[in-house]
Amino acid sequence: MPTFCDVALPVPLDMAFTYKIAEQQPVIGGRVLVPFRNDRLSGVVTALHDREPTVKTKTVLQVLDAEPVLDDALMQLGQWIAQYYLAPIGDVFRTMLPLAAEIKKARVYQITETGHEALHASATVGSSRRSHQEIDAQLLEYDVLNYLSMSDEVLEGTIRSATGANRQVLENLLRKKWISRRDATAARDARRTIQVAVLKEAVGKLNENQQALVAALQTAAEGRLAVEVLRELTPDVPRSTLQTLVKRGIVELAEEAADFNVSTMKKRGPAHLDFIFSPAQKAALTTIQQASESRTFSVSLLHGVTGSGKTAVYLAAMQSVLESGRSAILLVPEIGLTPAAAANLHQVFGDEVAILHSALTGDERAEQWHRIRRGEARIVVGTRSAVFAPVSNLALIVVDEEHDSSYKQEETPRYHGRDVAVMRAKLSSAAVVLASATPSVESYYNAQSGKYRLIELRERVERRPLPEVEVVDMKAEFQASGEDQIFARRLIEEVTERLARGEQAMILLNRRGYSSVVLCRSCGENVQCKNCAISMTFHKAGYRLECHYCGYKQAVPKVCPKCQSEHIHFLGTGSEKVEERLHAAFPQARIGRLDRDTVKSRHDFERVLNQFHANEINLLVGTQMIAKGHDVHGVTLVGVVGADFALGFPDFRAAERTFQLLTQVAGRAGRGETPGRVILQVYYSEHYAIEFTQRHDYGGFYEKEIRYRKWMHYPPFSSLANVLVRSDKLDQALLWTGKLGRWFEGTKNEGVRILGPSVAPIMRLKRDYRYHFILKSPSREKLNLALRKMQAFADQQKIPRTNVILDVDALSLM
Ligand SMILES: [Zn+2]
Ligand SMILES: [Zn+2]
Repeated sequence: MPTFCDVALPVPLDMAFTYKIAEQQPVIGGRVLVPFRNDRLSGVVTALHDREPTVKTKTVLQVLDAEPVLDDALMQLGQWIAQYYLAPIGDVFRTMLPLAAEIKKARVYQITETGHEALHASATVGSSRRSHQEIDAQLLEYDVLNYLSMSDEVLEGTIRSATGANRQVLENLLRKKWISRRDATAARDARRTIQVAVLKEAVGKLNENQQALVAALQTAAEGRLAVEVLRELTPDVPRSTLQTLVKRGIVELAEEAADFNVSTMKKRGPAHLDFIFSPAQKAALTTIQQASESRTFSVSLLHGVTGSGKTAVYLAAMQSVLESGRSAILLVPEIGLTPAAAANLHQVFGDEVAILHSALTGDERAEQWHRIRRGEARIVVGTRSAVFAPVSNLALIVVDEEHDSSYKQEETPRYHGRDVAVMRAKLSSAAVVLASATPSVESYYNAQSGKYRLIELRERVERRPLPEVEVVDMKAEFQASGEDQIFARRLIEEVTERLARGEQAMILLNRRGYSSVVLCRSCGENVQCKNCAISMTFHKAGYRLECHYCGYKQAVPKVCPKCQSEHIHFLGTGSEKVEERLHAAFPQARIGRLDRDTVKSRHDFERVLNQFHANEINLLVGTQMIAKGHDVHGVTLVGVVGADFALGFPDFRAAERTFQLLTQVAGRAGRGETPGRVILQVYYSEHYAIEFTQRHDYGGFYEKEIRYRKWMHYPPFSSLANVLVRSDKLDQALLWTGKLGRWFEGTKNEGVRILGPSVAPIMRLKRDYRYHFILKSPSREKLNLALRKMQAFADQQKIPRTNVILDVDALSLM
């Protein structure tokens, strides 16, 4: 039996920590609870051994898992992520395991000897020279001591609710050493359970209420229903009826592990969907099926124009994986915002699907994880982190809308879900399908160079035409009307026509709020966020200014904060203003809006979308939220206001992002019987991102873009990392940036180009001043080595890890 184990803990250090094993033996890939500094932390065991460490070791407090929670392939995947993205392995494992809810964080307090003495002496307190507040504060402290003196150890929450003391009071008592505290974090005793009613035998005479309960149970599989569900099904039956049935032995109650979202009605098997496929879809399906059956690693890029039926193809492929007894994972950018969610996943996959979305609580997330782990759900659908789902016998991973930037995690570990999916498939000898109408330049390059297999769907289903795209130059509109207009005359004409015909339209402006700039006409002062170097956006609903980067809100100033002038002007347009102006232009229209101000939950989103589907809304306004995958057949017109405004961003991916967004939103038009039309309002009509969108020419766009990338040594021709230095103190940020700059200058980092230091495009964000370096190299190994050496230097200079961000394959350079 090994005496020591190495544990990866979620702390910002690139090492595992060695602990002595107590009587219970841990397993590699399983979790243990260990003391770390003054805390208790749970971590994953990475090794078992007998090598006595040179430093004194602490002992494992508790073994949390008898079986590994990360199998070999997932352990390897975690190691790869830690290595590739330069992230601490403990942080990586924590990201991979959504089981935090199983550990209960707790602090317990105890009264000390000195505390007892102080309490004893308290009878003599009460000198008259103190204020009421001082006396009250002291009385509260004695209340706490008194309460603690009655028991051995008390949880923080219990003391606070029993005495009304806040954390400050406890801190004061700790400082006086009247009380002591320890971390009592531990695994929770048991998994959450639910009460289940089981129908035994319906004998004897039953009254009406009893019959209702029995009937409800009879419709359920094996006559079992969660009591909660039974109550929902029979709202008029009094609670005592169930108790009577239990007493009579007709129904039995049992405690079962709660499994979120498992259908408690009759078990549903997968419905075999007969998709009606075009020859192109059929060919695509066959290729994907062969790849997933081959038990070898492969990557396919499924590039299909909008409306070509990609979703049906990969759902059918996943269904055949399920039928063959193996597992599949589907990654989607945002749950609820995808066509995959619109296709009823439960209908396609029965109860064998686990859907992981952001609205799950910690408990629900852990339950779903266990369900997948037990093999009860072999199809997993979810956002980025679903790539870590513990399925066994993995055959296929589908990454839908693979170009979407939400696959990149913008906190440690800064992994890209799509790239991790490819690595996971490689480690499991499985197939990956990357699907998109607008593949990322990197993925298409891999397909062109033969690294990925390219599967193309060039036509829409039922040979429906792609919409006609019209580009309107807003400079000409201005000259014609003599003033700035939000809508071009052509757009107004077209909307009028659609409304008259009972058709629907979508208007996109990828910027929320009412006005994006608040400016003083007298002195030119632009009202900026106090935490960020970003203009505040005016929101008319609520009449306030808001920073879209940190969320800071403030009242609308009546006079200029700089010169006191009253000439404050609101410039620029956001989706809120677009909606208002559409109401004015089309008073009869029913208008809905989708953006982060109107959508607070998945529910809001679905409600508006359902109304749009039902044609209760004629005009839908919104940000990029409306561009994603919706299939509303009544939409025959899409208008885009400010179609080119993102082209001005200082980011080498600006053209790619613009092309993707415009192509995606254009793809919403004309998916039904009637052909669609798209109107793009632009100022730079000659930009190639606009030109190729107009021609539906992905290939043309790619050719142009890839030449630029090659010329500029940008991905995919080089690997790129962003090193961001940040501090809320300007001099500190400058000092660290200077140190790193001199280190880069004085160190030979062969084969790596270092740009910077320079001020980050957003110079101040969430109170931090920001500087950055961009590292580029044709060799990933050399880039990684340079970053590693730099990180060692930063550690040695005692620059905290949270102040130097290493972002490998950074998507945002802002
Ligand atoms: Zn002013
Ligand atoms: Zn801000």
